[in-house]
Amino acid sequence: MMIDYSEKQSADPVLERVMSLDERYYMPVFGRRTPICIAKGEGAYLIDTAGRRYLDLIGGIAVNVLGHAHPALVKAICGQASSVIHCSNYYYNIPQAELAARLSALSGLQDARVFLCNSGAEANEAALKLARAYFYHKGQPRSKIISALNSFHGRTLATVTATGQTKYSEPFAPLPEGFIHVPYNDEEALKKVVDEKTCAVILEVIQGESGVILAHRSYLEQAERLCRQTDARFIIDEVQTGMGRTGKFMAYEHHEIKPDIVTLAKGLAGGVPIGAMVANGETAPGFHPGDHGSTFGGNPLACAAALAVLDTYEESDLVAKAKRTGEQLIQSLTQLSERQTAILEVRGMGLMIGIELRKPCAPDVKAALLEAGYLVGSVGQHMIRLLPPLILDESNIPPFISALERILPEVS
Ligand SMILES: *Cc1c(COP(=O)(O)O)cnc(C)c1O
Repeated sequence: MMIDYSEKQSADPVLERVMSLDERYYMPVFGRRTPICIAKGEGAYLIDTAGRRYLDLIGGIAVNVLGHAHPALVKAICGQASSVIHCSNYYYNIPQAELAARLSALSGLQDARVFLCNSGAEANEAALKLARAYFYHKGQPRSKIISALNSFHGRTLATVTATGQTKYSEPFAPLPEGFIHVPYNDEEALKKVVDEKTCAVILEVIQGESGVILAHRSYLEQAERLCRQTDARFIIDEVQTGMGRTGKFMAYEHHEIKPDIVTLAKGLAGGVPIGAMVANGETAPGFHPGDHGSTFGGNPLACAAALAVLDTYEESDLVAKAKRTGEQLIQSLTQLSERQTAILEVRGMGLMIGIELRKPCAPDVKAALLEAGYLVGSVGQHMIRLLPPLILDESNIPPFISALERILPEVS
């Protein structure tokens, strides 16, 4: 089905102006195909410059965990901004120290220490550097870093190299050395490459960017076992799966594993840029003073926002809510897939959900859902992806299912 946007564009002069500025001045990296311009948000809804309301089921790609304009987050950000936004890491600041203590406890790692930065890529970059520095300072340098095919770890040169999808790294050669990719969920392949020269194994508990692929429990256990046998550092990238997204604070808690390092970002400060790398007490001394740093990382504004998010999680028991809402959404979608042959499979955990379509019509389904007032993501041609705010209300599910039930036969 083709959707004609020409009418919509002429009805929204602000959108028209913004699109022409973007086309002329913004770096052409996104290939944006959704012609709406966001003006504001309220709870689980976004409102565009033409005044249309959309239920936000993609949540800024797993970022807007508290939805939009959440009063506790707004209050914390405004309060901190009127006090001090930034002061450099030459000095201590209160929110940074408090956030480090909170994340250390929430990580579940032994004697965990925290490094704060500004994005998921930076958190993973810090994790990879820490793993290398850990062996360097031991006087036994190791460089080999193992990651999975179809993984996603970020856009810096090191993290794009760790990312097991050449489409992200090909234009940027020469890439950093020492990175090896193995098929995800393949225990034998992992066993063949992890040895005494291995510096780190980095994995996601659910591969988000390649279409919501869940790790098998035995695979993660095997990865941990191989790391323990060889002393390689075990890194879990929780940038997307963390912050309660899957129904536990960290997705790795669904399994009987304990990584050495975990990384967080996306939802951590509810939309304010932040990243965190948390390492256990054995690994953290791998960084010596001067080895790593960040100008913005751990600044009072971002940390105050993160603390407000964590406080709200506790007060509203949001991780448990995400688990319940996610179970209901997955169940409703699974029931829909039994009535609708257009759906091949529904996968996911908590509020991290992929709807795999039988035919390559995901972009059309996404466009039709937009028309119906729902914002969703898509991966390639076959996958619709949902990463809604954790505050999503269960009452939003039936209307969404009805819209999807009406749209699927029309477009596929
Ligand atoms: C989004 C994402 C990243 C990169 O985060 P940025 O903030 O975009 O740098 C890394 N790992 C995973 C699993 C992600 O989903």
